[in-house]
Amino acid sequence: MIPLDEAIATVLDGCRPLEVERLPLADAVGCVLADDLVAADPVPPFANSAMDGYAVRAADVLEGAVPIELPVVAEVAAGHPVTDELQSGQAMRIFTGAPLPPGADSIVMVEHTSRLDGGDRVAIARAAVLGAHVRGVGDDVQPGDVVVHAGDELTPGRVGVLRSVGADPVPVRRRPRVGVLSTGDELVPGTAPLAPGQIRDSNRPTLLALLVEAGCVAVDLGHARDDRDAITDVFLAAVETCDAVLSTGGVSMGDTDLVKVVLDELAGPGGMRWMQVAIRPAKPLAFGILGDRRVPVFGLPGNPVSSMVSFELFARPGLRRLAGYGDDRLHRPRLTVVADEPLRRRPDGKTHFIRVVARAVDGELRVRTAGGQGSHQLSAMARANALVVLPDGDGIDAGEQAQAIVFGDIATATG
Ligand code: AMP
Ligand code: MG
Repeated sequence: MIPLDEAIATVLDGCRPLEVERLPLADAVGCVLADDLVAADPVPPFANSAMDGYAVRAADVLEGAVPIELPVVAEVAAGHPVTDELQSGQAMRIFTGAPLPPGADSIVMVEHTSRLDGGDRVAIARAAVLGAHVRGVGDDVQPGDVVVHAGDELTPGRVGVLRSVGADPVPVRRRPRVGVLSTGDELVPGTAPLAPGQIRDSNRPTLLALLVEAGCVAVDLGHARDDRDAITDVFLAAVETCDAVLSTGGVSMGDTDLVKVVLDELAGPGGMRWMQVAIRPAKPLAFGILGDRRVPVFGLPGNPVSSMVSFELFARPGLRRLAGYGDDRLHRPRLTVVADEPLRRRPDGKTHFIRVVARAVDGELRVRTAGGQGSHQLSAMARANALVVLPDGDGIDAGEQAQAIVFGDIATATG
């Protein structure tokens, strides 16, 4: 067996960021920026009012001068700048986002004023502070600021910032196109009735969904029987069109584990690494590079929980590297959790990943087992939102802390 870190390093070593393309912002949501994006212009581009109120010169409305009445000489709405200069002793009605008129330096909020003479005059009850409620040029972004960095994912907020500085289209890494193949004579694709000895192919839809969630373009490569030629054909076609390929099943030690045979043949000597990783579930993992396009191929284990955990630990970080994420963004964070009940295990030289339900209780993440921990018991994995990492040993008692990989929604329960 090899340590988890060594297996992860092997995978990451074979995964390189994909090429750069320029995409319209609207199509780039969830992609990773390829270059630092530097603002050419300031945001906001002009000084403007943060409030509905009156633009004034602070010197006219000092402590001691208030209450005071001023003539209202103009109205300034957002999108409608005025060119007339505000003179000493005057006010202008102004609305949020409207350009500060020349000559004005402060805003008195409408709550501190009363309209007089049908709006021709205003009574100001409170003193103004110089610059109050004025948003200055470049308050948000200065020219030359890096607004989004290479390696940053384009989140909704970043999409907005990029548009605010007029950056569109933007250079991003291509979204990885990732194929999924399931193998096994016992598998029935879809929902057709099961003959004796058959089970439904649940891994393929699961992995396709995990890929979508990871921001990849998921490509369904279908199901292959345990047949050398059938499996070979799918891999050969896939490496022409996909940036990575995931297969499930056929990588353990059995006679019918033909994925192993086929991948060894296609990758050539030394091309595939067959790893027995010191973890449970998901011990077997195959990884290698196939074809002229040097496509990373992941041979994930067939057991449903194992294939999901293997995706989480190995494939997702590798695919995120293809997508351009920086090294500090490849893995999910490991958070400290507190066990609500004992989480037991036996010493076996492996790190165990326990499927748990984590809840936020009084600012703490508290965990309970999500159910049966067998690698075929997908329902517990489906209930789980975190994997507690139990190092080799006997496990932990109720009330003890552990590290957990949180991958799902956290309920906000109390008590
Ligand atoms: P294998 O790695 O091919 O030996 O498969 C290990 C176990 O996972 C066996 O019990 C298989 O029936 C099961 N299995 C393999 N592929 C799938 C799949 N696509 N969906 C559900 N179970 C699977
Ligand atoms: Mg099989």
